[in-house]
Amino acid sequence: MGKVWDTLAPRNLELGPFSAGRKPAAAGAWRHWKLARDDDGIAWLIFDKEGSSANTIDEDVLRELNDALAQITRELPKGVVLRSAKKNGFIAGADIGEFRTMTEAAAVQNRLREGHAVIDRLEQLSVPVVAVIHGYCLGGGLEIALACDYRVAVEDAQLGFPEVLLGLHPGLGGTVRLPRLINPIEAMTMMLTGRNARATRAKSLGLVDAVVAERHVKAAASAAVFGKLKTRRGGKLIELLNSKLGRQLAARRMRAQTGKKAPIEHYPAPHALIDLWEHHGGSAEEMQKAEIASFARLLTSDTSRNLVRVFFLREKLKQLADGQWPGKRVHVIGAGAMGADIAAWCAWHGFHVTLADTNPEALGKAVARAADLYGKIGHRRTATRDALDRLIPDLNGEGVHTADLVIEAVPETLDLKRKIYAAIEPKMAPGAILATNTSSIPLQQLREGLQRPDHLVGLHFFNPVSRMALVELVSHDQVSSGVLAQGRAFLGRIDRLPAPVKSAPGFLVNRALTPYMLEAMVMLNEGGKRETIDAAAQSFGMPMGPIELADQVGLDICLHVAESLKANLDRPMPDVSRVLRDKVELGELGRKTGKGFYVWKKGEAIKEGAAPAPTEEMRDRLILPMLDVCVTCLREGIVEDEDIIDGAMVFATGFAPFRGGPMHYARSRGAENIRRALEVLAQRYGDRFRPDPGWDRLA
Ligand code: NAD
Repeated sequence: MGKVWDTLAPRNLELGPFSAGRKPAAAGAWRHWKLARDDDGIAWLIFDKEGSSANTIDEDVLRELNDALAQITRELPKGVVLRSAKKNGFIAGADIGEFRTMTEAAAVQNRLREGHAVIDRLEQLSVPVVAVIHGYCLGGGLEIALACDYRVAVEDAQLGFPEVLLGLHPGLGGTVRLPRLINPIEAMTMMLTGRNARATRAKSLGLVDAVVAERHVKAAASAAVFGKLKTRRGGKLIELLNSKLGRQLAARRMRAQTGKKAPIEHYPAPHALIDLWEHHGGSAEEMQKAEIASFARLLTSDTSRNLVRVFFLREKLKQLADGQWPGKRVHVIGAGAMGADIAAWCAWHGFHVTLADTNPEALGKAVARAADLYGKIGHRRTATRDALDRLIPDLNGEGVHTADLVIEAVPETLDLKRKIYAAIEPKMAPGAILATNTSSIPLQQLREGLQRPDHLVGLHFFNPVSRMALVELVSHDQVSSGVLAQGRAFLGRIDRLPAPVKSAPGFLVNRALTPYMLEAMVMLNEGGKRETIDAAAQSFGMPMGPIELADQVGLDICLHVAESLKANLDRPMPDVSRVLRDKVELGELGRKTGKGFYVWKKGEAIKEGAAPAPTEEMRDRLILPMLDVCVTCLREGIVEDEDIIDGAMVFATGFAPFRGGPMHYARSRGAENIRRALEVLAQRYGDRFRPDPGWDRLA
């Protein structure tokens, strides 16, 4: 989020009496809020959280808001304008750090009741209150805005309730006010998905009353205060959908849809939200009470704790990418599955990118794919046009001369990569970095023959680049620390999360995923049903089962990685090369050819309905070897700490986020418990389950 904010153009905000160059006649003496009246008798209440670049809500902020409201009530103005002084937005939500300290549901309820009282007080002010919203208006911020009489959005505003991503639902009256203000189905969808609404969408939903340019804020706010702003409120449809029958019918459908994406046993929050609305939506007062109780229950649950942990893991990885890197030009070699997407992604993030390939057809396809991607992720046509202008097909590889960073993404062959390095290194600008996207070749082998091995680093992206936030930043014993720092900062500039790993076969993520996928194939060989095997992993919380994942990745790539890891690691691995090789020889490579272990139609694996339910043992056979590799990587120093392992596995593989990452899961279940379970599996199925000695250190 920080990155998005940083890219917003600096602006002068209209802050009424506090606007640049004017001194307010009187202002309250709070740390986070300022209050003064303008010449029209409107009170401007400005939120500017002390010591923070973004406005977030905590106990202190609410206490001061309460004082400010008391002061406003003592001498009523004509109206109140509530706005943020931060350039990046209105309010980014509640201070998540505060959540971490709360373990008692009763204490949470008390705190919430105090918060509700302040927000109710805002709602009950007897003069019109206008929230002026620019940038982010999320969670608790939106709850404050909902308690105002009018909402005026500046064009870049984004409003939303992301609580569900933390295993929660809104807790400061949002569940009560939103479904009463706008179509409740839209309201529930916003809260169930956590998706933001941009200003124009918010206007069409009726969530904001006007969308204006910054220079018109004062006029719009004053029009609202003096009753001259047209609003669209309520209506028969909203009433009907909020009726008991309306709620019952809609809730049934919502439950079915939600259950498919977020099973109740793994993600209780969206289900609790549906219950809240269905059972209490008829009375605001009752719903408020129920919201408090439900929020407190969720906040103190393991699921929410783990999802909050994942939020902080993301922050931790983001911080690793915080440094400065002044580079402007990126040259990508290889316009295949990975190189094309890496180039498109870099161009989208402002880099001038040259994309080289020996095959002109690949270059044409790459540009078409980029246009397609930009159409999906962008909201302005000009942004797509500018990014396409920055992405230059480069058949002769001229871009290598001026690039600050060269990323190689040619097929996974040591000789080919080395040959390319020998040809380009003399042409590269002094100080330019050479990065490889290799997924399995040790960098110690790739750097041989280089004039400047200290400039070689691994940037191991995952497929698809635009959706997988994580990139393994691979080091080797000769890379310079400066190059690593620049690599991290580069990843920050393209909004990816670095996971620093040492070069070793499979690095961390592929090494951990391989035994998981191969074990699934052993089970297939034993006669297991592919649907049951996939269901075993999904019942643990993996977003996709291992068989489907193998099809998705491509069985040729799986075979290659499995063979390379088998050759380079001394860990015993199941031998399923025959299963994989047969498929590869038949040309059944998975999703990309329409058939692998599954038949694929329109990007979906076709699954057969009735399959036997998975067993606990199946789950352990799949998941525990993955955890065992994580412990090995920690013991061998491939990865520095447990948080990086957890972050990498969650953001690169979707490892059950509600479990907080593999190491966190291992610690919650108990290292000794897992070690014993592995021993039992080793006795039954062979040495590949023998636990790593590193478990002893965790116990
Ligand atoms: P790919 O086969 O889809 O694309 C490789 C491209 O390189 C092709 O377009 C080919 O024409 C081009 N090429 C070949 N020789 C070249 C040369 N001498 N100069 C310029 N271009 C040349 O391969 P890919 O799947 O994109 O993999 C590329 C690299 O990324 C590999 O090292 C692979 O291990 C790694 N990787 C792949 C994935 C994945 O899921 N596919 C994920 C992470 C990393």
